Amino acid sequence: DLSTTIAEAARLLADAHDVTLLSHINPDADTLGSALAVGLALHRRGAAVRVAFGEPEIVPESLKALDTAGLLVHRDEVPEEPELLVVMDTGSLQRLGPLASRVERAKGPVIVIDHHVSNTRYGTLHCIDEHAEATALIALRVLDEMGVEVDEPIARCIYAGLVTDTGGFRKAGPAAHETAARLLQTGVDAYSVTRPLMDAHPFAYLGMLSRVLAKAELDERAAGGLGLVHAVVGMDDARDVRSEEVESVIDVVRSASEAEVAAVLKELRPGYWSVSLRAVGQVDVREVAQVLGGGGHRLAAGFTFDGAAEQVVAALKGALERVGS
Ligand code: 5GP
Ligand code: MN
Ligand code: MN
Repeated sequence: DLSTTIAEAARLLADAHDVTLLSHINPDADTLGSALAVGLALHRRGAAVRVAFGEPEIVPESLKALDTAGLLVHRDEVPEEPELLVVMDTGSLQRLGPLASRVERAKGPVIVIDHHVSNTRYGTLHCIDEHAEATALIALRVLDEMGVEVDEPIARCIYAGLVTDTGGFRKAGPAAHETAARLLQTGVDAYSVTRPLMDAHPFAYLGMLSRVLAKAELDERAAGGLGLVHAVVGMDDARDVRSEEVESVIDVVRSASEAEVAAVLKELRPGYWSVSLRAVGQVDVREVAQVLGGGGHRLAAGFTFDGAAEQVVAALKGALERVGS
């Protein structure tokens, strides 16, 4: 069970001299915060530690403040055959992008710390709790099991994962709030963590948002008889902004109250789309995403798709009809 695998992971990490921690592609605060929190604890114990992700090549600016010890390295600096590998918040190998090969080639154990129901159980040791509101909460359990002193730099990383994956605590239960209180007591400045992650954007964001929202569409019956709102961020729309700005468009689009499901199509390369899905409560968008080759959670999921934007929307509507509500 989970307590056993957490104890086993803590034992492996406590004895390790060389640890590689991986985050999923297009990293968010949960995957990077979890990796950096555990990485920081191991670094302090004298282990050689590196944290990396497969794509994009640059670190999102809004996440830089979490890397207080400079543990993040470019994907090319990840050893071909890592000694001990820890993979954070990543439901499938495909979500590691170009670093997926490291899992098969690892010389030692591969510890998977995750909260996706759809986790495919790659790797050798599974600390997976689909009821955890964030992977960061499971990472914190591992740190506690190791007897690590959770001070501000570590707490900041865990808090960042918790606050983002719970939608700013909107979806958080009492235990997550208690953990948040413990983290804040170490001196974490909640506002300075959350503003760059959730609220602040360069001015160019406003222009991009206005162009994209002007073309958003509402279909009041597409999601099993419920509303679907969608917006398209083409490569031209995204030219002047960072990936963080594009990722946050879904948080505005989903505010349409007529919609049970919100979707944002993000063009990564010409004719290749990453799609974010959000639901309010009646539709399981993980099922919808899985029909289309993706995954995620009940209320937040995603998939990638080749084709024109209209084809993506048609495929999405088809999957919504099949899954129903
Ligand atoms: P987001 O819309 O924030 O990128 O992703 C929301 C959730 O969906 C995340 O939990 C993420 O794991 C999952 N997700 C997003 N895109 C994909 C994808 O292409 N494949 C899979 N398997 N999951 C995805
Ligand atoms: Mn994530
Ligand atoms: Mn997560």
